[in-house]
Amino acid sequence: MTNQQIWQAVLGELELSLSKANFTTWFKSTAISSIEDDRVIIVVPNTFTRAWLLNKYNQSILTSLRNISGIPLKEIIYKVEVLKQNPFPSQNQVSQPQVSSPVEGRETVSPTYSPQAPAPIIITKSNPSGLNPKYVFANFIVGKNNELAHAAARAVAKNLGKSTYNPLFIYGGVGLGKTHLVQAIGHELLAQDPNKKILYITSERFTNDYVQAIRSRTTEKFKQFYRSPDLLLIDDVQFMAAKDGTQQEFFHTFNELHQADKQIVMTSDRPPKSIPALEQRLISRFEWGMIADVAQPDYETRIAILKAKCAEKGLSLAQDAIDLIASIIQNNIRELEGALNKIIAYEQFHQSPLSVDSIKNLLSAHVSQNTKKSATPKQLILIVSEFYDIKIDDLLGPSREKKLSFPRQIIMYLMRKELESSFPAIGQELGGRDHTTAMHACDKIEKEIQINERLKQEIEQIKQRVFTV
Ligand code: ADP
Ligand code: MG
Repeated sequence: MTNQQIWQAVLGELELSLSKANFTTWFKSTAISSIEDDRVIIVVPNTFTRAWLLNKYNQSILTSLRNISGIPLKEIIYKVEVLKQNPFPSQNQVSQPQVSSPVEGRETVSPTYSPQAPAPIIITKSNPSGLNPKYVFANFIVGKNNELAHAAARAVAKNLGKSTYNPLFIYGGVGLGKTHLVQAIGHELLAQDPNKKILYITSERFTNDYVQAIRSRTTEKFKQFYRSPDLLLIDDVQFMAAKDGTQQEFFHTFNELHQADKQIVMTSDRPPKSIPALEQRLISRFEWGMIADVAQPDYETRIAILKAKCAEKGLSLAQDAIDLIASIIQNNIRELEGALNKIIAYEQFHQSPLSVDSIKNLLSAHVSQNTKKSATPKQLILIVSEFYDIKIDDLLGPSREKKLSFPRQIIMYLMRKELESSFPAIGQELGGRDHTTAMHACDKIEKEIQINERLKQEIEQIKQRVFTV
């Protein structure tokens, strides 16, 4: 086996146990440089990757290397070196973006893009309030669920515009801190250099501005405006799905900024590949830099967040009250904050701590929201079909194409697990299939979730849509 073959096999193994985001971010541009006795030298593209691999994945890499090479390796040395060949070549290499009118100097950048539309939030020294002042790194609690995204966001703030980190793409479910994180990059950057131009915008806003610019024939102005910031933070890009004109315009904006080493940071509720009706050339660009996910916080992180929020407000809440809130509200940090505020308001009003029962009562809306039977199989099917952008007829139809059978199996699994349907009923609901098919599907997904972090998160997101909205 050559070193390259060994490394490919190791990557293949690691890919199974990591989320796609983790995998691409940390193993892109890595290779075995040499194996010397019981030491293996691995080249990595930057110090950040080196630190991360060393701290987080050293043991898994070593184990996998030993198993695959058969060499009793003892140590990995990570060496920073830029590889000439990217082991993950993207299909579409950069086509030269068309050169538009030259972007003018900073002084001339108008702080708002307007024909008539309200101003997008651009931050300059004179307008420091554009970003939500609450969304800074200092009050962002790092847990297992978001450590990757947090580290990536920090790295971007330190290495603005460097190609390894450009663009940064953060994805995950609602209320899990994406907006907070990307705005924190903006704040951090302003702290370093108040003259930097930062533009925070939602993709809906970008779309509206674009439509408006076409209408009022001010597309040149639009282009200048969007192509001028040092840091473009664009939130919820999934809303560009199926908007062809907007996508095309964003493609050019993206190229222009990227070429000028300007930083782009995006968020979405799912990874680029899973955004339905997103042009391939955009998908491939979104995957150029770093991709990081935010997942739902575990119990310990929820407690840490609640405690931090109490401390921020200068209030204290009994430990059992905090434990209780953390165990009731599981999905979403925004809701966690909401619940906390509600309880604090009641305690202040009554001027005494609430009992466990009163807290349960207060949060009962959440408790019942989280109960399972509030959805029907039909709603579940509809949401899965929307999530994967598949027609319901196809889901219920006879085709066994993987693109269809996998979402179908997910529905079966969720019907069993969340709606407690019988296997024959599940088969029936999904186009009259046999109950053994349903049994097999549930088994398969159950096992797959154990090893496939990405699938686990997709299912969490689907559950969130089905049961809590
Ligand atoms: P998203 O953009 O993913 O929907 P937000 O960034 O709007 O989520 O976060 C929702 C709320 O939860 C915000 O008030 C945010 O400050 C808070 N929040 C999210 N994650 C964290 C965290 N890790 N630490 C502290 N607060 C958080
Ligand atoms: Mg958001």
